[in-house]
Amino acid sequence: MRLVLLGPPGSGKGTQATRLKEKLGIAHISTGDLLRAEVAAGSELGKQAKAVMDAGNLVSDDILLGMLRSRLSQPDVAKGFILDGYPRNVAQAEALDGVLADIGQPLDAVVQLDVDADQLIERLAGRAKEQGRADDSPDAVRQRLQVYTQQTAPVVDFYAERGTLARLDGIGELEEVEARIHAVLPKAG
Ligand code: ADP
Repeated sequence: MRLVLLGPPGSGKGTQATRLKEKLGIAHISTGDLLRAEVAAGSELGKQAKAVMDAGNLVSDDILLGMLRSRLSQPDVAKGFILDGYPRNVAQAEALDGVLADIGQPLDAVVQLDVDADQLIERLAGRAKEQGRADDSPDAVRQRLQVYTQQTAPVVDFYAERGTLARLDGIGELEEVEARIHAVLPKAG
């Protein structure tokens, strides 16, 4: 199963991807986690990315594509993967098509978690208290939501036009949302 999980910041992509990874035995590729690992390691890439991330903006497409290519070349990906946080703009969606065509592993599904803005702001404020992520500050959250509307929402249309998109209500208990995702995934085999 090769899956893209789309949704605004705070929509629960990361949480659901972790659960899907366990259930389906596939790799979870979170570009946010990959970037945070670079920042934590103090690499050159991490240094470049940190200020951009903290402000709630998108790190450059080139950096992301390099990271993605390298992650997709690792052996665990052969069993399938969930992409969480990529693509975040239409150029990335087009780049992803190219990379997946190169490795002969096209997507099976694209799932969008819909959550309204009020709910997102509430969830992110809660997470800011619990985890203290620099980009969960009120200014950064506002910017991330704006970036989502301007740059990532068109990705939803990109996949909708191809008929590969399933949109779900992302509000409810974790188990309920998870069941909704499983219900729209193509059956294995
Ligand atoms: P969230 O979905 O809650 O915004 P993520 O962990 O997915 O959080 O991403 C955190 C930050 O990492 C983003 O705000 C952005 O700065 C950077 N980032 C993650 N994925 C991408 C991407 N595909 N393109 C550009 N920047 C990205």
